[in-house]
Amino acid sequence: MDFEFSDEMKMLRETAGDFAKNEFEPIAQDLDREEKYPKDVWKKASGLGLIGAWIPEEYGGSGVGFLGNAIITEEFSRVDLGMSLIIAGTFGCEAIYWAGTEEQKKRYLSQVSQGEAISAGAFTEPDAGTDVAGARTRAVKDGDEYVINGNKMFITNGDVCDFMVTLCVTNPDAEKRYKKHSLIIVESDRPGVIATKIHGKMGIRASDTAEISFEDVRVPVSNLVGETEGQGFYQAMQFFDTTRIMVSAQGVGLAQGALDKAIQYVKERKAFGVPIASFQITQQKIAEMAMRVEATRNLVYKSAWYLDNHKVDPILNSITKYYAGETAVFCANYAVELHGGYGYIDEYDVQRFYRDAKILQLYEGTKEAEVLTIARRLLV
Ligand SMILES: Cc1cc2nc3c(=O)[nH]c(=O)nc-3n(C[C@H](O)[C@H](O)[C@H](O)COP(=O)(O)OP(=O)(O)OC[C@H]3O[C@@H](n4cnc5c(N)ncnc54)[C@H](O)[C@@H]3O)c2cc1C
Repeated sequence: MDFEFSDEMKMLRETAGDFAKNEFEPIAQDLDREEKYPKDVWKKASGLGLIGAWIPEEYGGSGVGFLGNAIITEEFSRVDLGMSLIIAGTFGCEAIYWAGTEEQKKRYLSQVSQGEAISAGAFTEPDAGTDVAGARTRAVKDGDEYVINGNKMFITNGDVCDFMVTLCVTNPDAEKRYKKHSLIIVESDRPGVIATKIHGKMGIRASDTAEISFEDVRVPVSNLVGETEGQGFYQAMQFFDTTRIMVSAQGVGLAQGALDKAIQYVKERKAFGVPIASFQITQQKIAEMAMRVEATRNLVYKSAWYLDNHKVDPILNSITKYYAGETAVFCANYAVELHGGYGYIDEYDVQRFYRDAKILQLYEGTKEAEVLTIARRLLV
């Protein structure tokens, strides 16, 4: 087992880290306040091959795999989780990668890896989140088109994307509820697609989140992901097995960023005439943050490495995602506490980290959903 990264991966980390420091840091606070998606920064990152870096070179990506993508995600999230979500400019494409036709891969993966398009993954509905198979958006075949009607909720990039991979019911009469759905690619400029940006999120406010309505939206049947209807639920599960690892990398990055800021602050801030770093309680907090970051990082790299080697371990993925969310929330909380009252003011980044961290226990599977997956699979 080799824990040493290749020179290529080390360079990738440096490039991503420098990019985040230079491009995110100066504007992260403003974008958070204004709830503004940084499209120009997304474009720049695409130009450097940092968006869709996991996409194989034959489809225009950098071909650094999911481990490479995790490293970029980690470095981005270390500076600002909201802005780091420009990396989710390929969200949804993971399903095309695993289950799409060759033609779909050439067309859609190339567009996002070249910075020509932003994608989204539209699964959640107002009445169906954790219960993915409860999605009711309907796609009815009409000649060589599908006609789509329904609503999606909380869709990342919903208001800025060019296309979305959408979970729809195509086979309502299937005996098993897991065989009723298909994934269909819906271009967002098609008549009847209405995106409404959601305002007032607790955190990741530079990331775009929208509610989507489909009103008699027509797409060609060739937009069905893969070749067979009724596979959508299984394709979605395979998709989540990939994207959960990337979300876990967000957790490591945020936690490391909180630790960086805490270390810097406790060395500078004085109380009772000495730096607060000299107090044992402070040291205990710093050490505990570092322990959790390191343990989580190892889980993330192992999960990503498995994925790159086509070994899917849903228990490991769920453990990783659960632990990453816990670590991020834990570290952001300690970082605020170590900043005292200043940690509560939005001038200090740790306040934003604290608000941002919570999403990591909610999206891409709530922490309870991860626990269920782990237990169910262990107890079969
Ligand atoms: C900012 C943001 C971005 C998002 N981006 C996307 C996106 O890009 N695409 C997308 O499709 N979705 C997205 N989501 C949706 C997100 O994945 C869902 O909100 C999440 O899966 C939970 O679904 P829900 O909100 O319907 O909660 P529910 O499923 O209603 O859950 C409510 C509570 O009940 C618990 N619960 C549910 N079922 C069980 C059970 N069987 N046993 C025990 N507890 C249970 C949950 O854990 C939770 O605590 C996003 C959400 C947010 C907030």
